[in-house]
Amino acid sequence: MTLDFSAVFLLIGELAVLAVLVVLVVALILLALTLLSIRSGRLYFPNLLRPGLTALEGVMRALFKAVGLEDQEMLAFFVTLGNTMNAQAFAEVPVDERAIFLPQCLRNARCPADLTPEGLRCKRCGRCTVGEAIRVLETLGYRVFIVPGSSFIKRMVKKYRPRALIGVGCLAEVKEGLEMAERLGLVGMGVVSLKDGCVETLVDWNTLYDVALLGLPPSSVPEDLHLPADE
Ligand code: SF4
Repeated sequence: MTLDFSAVFLLIGELAVLAVLVVLVVALILLALTLLSIRSGRLYFPNLLRPGLTALEGVMRALFKAVGLEDQEMLAFFVTLGNTMNAQAFAEVPVDERAIFLPQCLRNARCPADLTPEGLRCKRCGRCTVGEAIRVLETLGYRVFIVPGSSFIKRMVKKYRPRALIGVGCLAEVKEGLEMAERLGLVGMGVVSLKDGCVETLVDWNTLYDVALLGLPPSSVPEDLHLPADE
């Protein structure tokens, strides 16, 4: 029996075209859902959007660019999507199994914090709001770190084995952090800073507290807890 190579090549070619068409159709559906979600401020089919956007990220970036969607808008959408999908699971993790990672750029430029194996150790000197925020978050039961470098989070996750984390940072950092948390099997929530840069960046502490309080019974929040950002 002789193998008909031309028929085999034809079949491979047809399958390849079919695969490209399927990817294109799925990508167009994801594009429509993303645009609809962004415009309406409501997530449509998040269970389809998240795996789809992750699996086809390269194609989707090209399509978003083609329709004029800025990279920043896309990143913000990724973060909102991740937070929305993880909120329930995050709320179910006890606070003593959660950790918060703050970027070092939130500190005052003249911060006297010491660099330790557990990250930068805030001295609560009052030059910035980080010290008071850490006090509040630790009172709630969180383990809070100021991140000095890129491999630090993985190291602390390995050491303390939290089941959930909140990452604060610029859009790109938060998106990467959420993806890393997912790879490590953790529930990740992201809070995007208000101002990018390398020094004295800003975060809306109330947004962080809103996330941090998810799932905490009111009885576990000390009555005299003083939230500095409410001032
Ligand atoms: S409060 Fe903490 S983080 Fe802020 S400048 Fe002082 S030591 Fe640094």
